[in-house]
Amino acid sequence: MAATFYNYIAGEWVPARSGKAFPNENPATREILHYFPDSSADDVGDAMAAAVKAARRWRALPAPRRAELIFRAGQLLLERKEELAREMTQEMGKVLVEARGDVQEGIDMAFYMAGEGRRLFGQTVPSELPNKFAMSVRVPKGVVGAITPWNFPIAIPCWKLMPALVAGNTVVFKPSQFSPKSAWNLVRVLEEAGLPPGVLNVVFGEGAVPGAALVDASAVNHISFTGSTTVGRKVGVRCAELGKSVHLEMGGKNAIIVMDDADLDLAIDGAVWSAFGTSGQRCTAASRLLVHRAVHDRFLDRLVDRVKTLRLGDGLDPRTDVGPVVNQPQYEKVLSYLQIGRDEGATVAVGGGPAKRDGLPPGYFIEPTIFVDVKPEMRIAQEEIFGPVTAAIRVNDLDEAVAINDGVIYGLSSSVFTQDVNKAFRALERITTGIVYVNAGTIGAEIQLPFGGTRATGNGHREAGQAALETYTEWKTLYIDYSGRLQRAQIDLETDDDA
Ligand code: NAD
Repeated sequence: MAATFYNYIAGEWVPARSGKAFPNENPATREILHYFPDSSADDVGDAMAAAVKAARRWRALPAPRRAELIFRAGQLLLERKEELAREMTQEMGKVLVEARGDVQEGIDMAFYMAGEGRRLFGQTVPSELPNKFAMSVRVPKGVVGAITPWNFPIAIPCWKLMPALVAGNTVVFKPSQFSPKSAWNLVRVLEEAGLPPGVLNVVFGEGAVPGAALVDASAVNHISFTGSTTVGRKVGVRCAELGKSVHLEMGGKNAIIVMDDADLDLAIDGAVWSAFGTSGQRCTAASRLLVHRAVHDRFLDRLVDRVKTLRLGDGLDPRTDVGPVVNQPQYEKVLSYLQIGRDEGATVAVGGGPAKRDGLPPGYFIEPTIFVDVKPEMRIAQEEIFGPVTAAIRVNDLDEAVAINDGVIYGLSSSVFTQDVNKAFRALERITTGIVYVNAGTIGAEIQLPFGGTRATGNGHREAGQAALETYTEWKTLYIDYSGRLQRAQIDLETDDDA
């Protein structure tokens, strides 16, 4: 019998007010693992009220004290890494080695942001007037709403919750309905680390209902959203109407460029890992391969041979290279793109349909697929598929590769394989995505650097690194005049002889 889990509001684990719950399915086996509250706007309202109530005391607690709790959460995540990774694999399908990496990213973020509790640097600058002191400090935004996807069920919530909490915000967290247990596990860790009631609240729910209610919630000052561009744009429009600050991290259509002088073994390793890791369900997945014509056929032949050796299966099996896609709608969407690619005239070099291998469990498995003879304007080369599918495009030189790389609406990650330092630097300079790798695939972000994309991938903000603090704090500018008289900036320019 699958167990039922609850929302966490004001320090209590409570069911949805409606009493309704939704199932959490294992995409490899299709078994029902758990049930979670199917929350409505009322539940979001309760969570928001709790976050508002807790806000004054939490922001008054010195940042180093807040950070100690985040540090403790990092330690608990480390102690439970294996258990959390296994539960993540069970509910969303990524192979165990990648699930461990996901939890590790959360641990890294906890420790990094715990350090920020003793920094949170502001600026002190000279005043233009004598006997006057000027500085700026960071202050929390207030109540933050965090809305997250299922593909990094611990890492992405940690990218948001850790900086938001250290900076002194209280949070209402709405995780994806396709990875609720990982979210529950993370919130439990933060509860056990000692967060006071109401500082962090989690509201589970299917689809748009609690997410949209959170965006609309009057006391929520800032929304941090990661997910698809379709939903993100709706969230952005609504926040603009309501005058809320909003940070959007959305879709990607990333490319690996393979130049004629590339180390092909390395490029093949990079392509396999970036295109088929997490079954292609990473925002940074390499869903296009832009290959120089001089090495195109050699590269593709060898890549196809490698892809044929990939083992599909349950991510908990250590022999598995590629797990299932996350759910039935995603399965159908990816299969529809396989048909679209054929209809557009692309050729399937390997894969191309549902996986029907002996011994596979009854889940959502799709053969790792490479399309060749792809033109840059085809839909399979323009639209985010979010599955184990990549499209190879032949290019004549670096300039053409960069133009095709940037010729999509998205702007998240790119990579170039070359052994020519001049080409590497030209690519780094010209490519307009938010992240660019040289001689590595398109995936593999480290948490101490900014993460995010340009164009339809983002709205100008960044997760992670110091940049994350920008979205969870307001600047407050402080002037202290100790001259004892009225000094007017820009007007009283004479020096005070008594200073
Ligand atoms: P999604 O947009 O379907 O859902 C994201 C979250 O929004 C979920 O919690 C969902 O319940 C919620 N939601 C749905 N409708 C909503 C609404 N109307 N208002 C408010 N919230 C709503 O995305 P997904 O399928 O969970 O995730 C996959 C997408 O996320 C892909 O497009 C991927 O590229 C993107 N992604 C981006 C990044 C990044 O950093 N750029 C990272 C990971 C995933």
